[in-house]
Amino acid sequence: MSFTTLGLDSRLLKTLEAKGYSTPTPIQTQVIPLVLRGRDILGAAQTGTGKTAAFALPIIHKLISAANAKQSSARALVIVPTRELASQVAEAIRLYAEGLDLSCIALFGGANMARQAKELGEGVDIIVATPGRLIELNKQGHVPLSRIEYLVFDEADTIFDMGFIREVEQIIDLLPLKRQNMLFSATMTGAVKQLSEKILKKPLLVEIDNLKAADATIRQVVHPVEKERKKELLSFVIGSNNYPQVLVFTRTKAEADEVSAELTASGLKNVVIHGDKKHGARDRALTEFREGNTRILVATDIAARGLDIEGLDVVINYDIPHVSTDYLHRIGRTGRAG
Ligand code: AMP
Repeated sequence: MSFTTLGLDSRLLKTLEAKGYSTPTPIQTQVIPLVLRGRDILGAAQTGTGKTAAFALPIIHKLISAANAKQSSARALVIVPTRELASQVAEAIRLYAEGLDLSCIALFGGANMARQAKELGEGVDIIVATPGRLIELNKQGHVPLSRIEYLVFDEADTIFDMGFIREVEQIIDLLPLKRQNMLFSATMTGAVKQLSEKILKKPLLVEIDNLKAADATIRQVVHPVEKERKKELLSFVIGSNNYPQVLVFTRTKAEADEVSAELTASGLKNVVIHGDKKHGARDRALTEFREGNTRILVATDIAARGLDIEGLDVVINYDIPHVSTDYLHRIGRTGRAG
């Protein structure tokens, strides 16, 4: 299977070739033709399956197709749970839309609102946003949502986990009734099912079992240890194995800070991201880690949700998360896109 058989615009195919995407992932093979045909999608898929391109490519295709002349108002809206995911999805969309006359903006809390409002005023085609900031900007009259034709909820389960229920309802009420909808979620919780029933019209269910891929490609190891000696063992495991890059997950923000301090005390340079860190600090930490200036990133689940960090060899679960899917999300950081 190659991208050429999926029905995408030749300009997009050229970009994909240039970016080294030779074969569509299973979710892309299934979702792209369906979206091109105008169907609503309910996608059970995690990050790492290539789902961003699965919804972004056909939406871009439709926005640039000749029959679909450019308009002054935003036409596609992607709702995501976290600011990191907003930046990452917007970046991916800009990459896929390179050389095309399309603009994409990421809107999230913690960033300068006036600047976001100014950019919106200059006109954008695709908005990627966290629910809270989108509502805030809309209330101030900066985000016209009356022309949205394509709506995507990405990581819907996390959107609800983070308590954005009211905001989600408000957003839906602001949108025109005639639109194409896609909803992706790693787990189909009650709230996700309700939302899908509310917004999706005759959706096609696409299920990508990432578990099998994870089983095959990711080796899992357990180190039994007394609680008091966990931090010590962590430093030892990282130090003695000389891993080039490690992502360490903790359950709580306080624990992330404690682990970070212990690693630092052991001479292991590290950066931390969690919900209490300011946006700038989180960005800097991620850049440090991505660029290989720091080899250890300590993170909580929410802060790390959806982060795309390439070539990550080792994930350490400092503890076991409460929810089994969080464990899969965590270890899935290593086997990205198969
Ligand atoms: P996602 O699940 O959307 O976060 O994508 C995970 C990673 O896979 C990202 O780094 C993408 O750039 C990459 N990716 C997505 N689709 C493909 C593809 N067809 N070929 C190669 N890499 C891909």
